[in-house]
Amino acid sequence: MNLSQLLAAATAGPVSLTDLAGQSTEVETIDVLRLYVAVADDCTTMGLGLLDVPTAEVTWESAQNATVRVASLRYAVCYGVERLCTAPGCLGPSTGTNLLTRVCAEHLDVLVPGVLPNAGDDIAPGDLELAAQQSRWLRLNVLQSEIDERARDAAGDRQVLERLRQG
Ligand SMILES: [Zn+2]
Repeated sequence: MNLSQLLAAATAGPVSLTDLAGQSTEVETIDVLRLYVAVADDCTTMGLGLLDVPTAEVTWESAQNATVRVASLRYAVCYGVERLCTAPGCLGPSTGTNLLTRVCAEHLDVLVPGVLPNAGDDIAPGDLELAAQQSRWLRLNVLQSEIDERARDAAGDRQVLERLRQG
């Protein structure tokens, strides 16, 4: 089922979704709507221009944990939508909204694509550990710039508020 089909089904009431193990659970209309908005937002912030939101396939990972996968993004959709770590099966909330920060604190070391050569033969002993360290460093830097950006936004909002108070 794709996102727009899911949304269409949800307009009539809660939708029942079944996972690969055959277990199903009901998702409220409001949470389907929140999921759609979250995917659309994430698609914009992460520059996933190739992902067509309405036709993006929704995979129900686990009915028990209420987790869904849309492309490489994962969400928990029970009582509100939470962005999850992109590591398969992990229930940890993601540390940020960028693709590089869509991991939880436990998975910061997961290799960033491209930090290791593609050919296995070119990987020397110790390279994996170094690549994990480098990935963690890259992810933390991206997280820091996300936090800085939010701080700049907040500073701008505060200035507007000050002007409004004085006006
Ligand atoms: Zn994780």
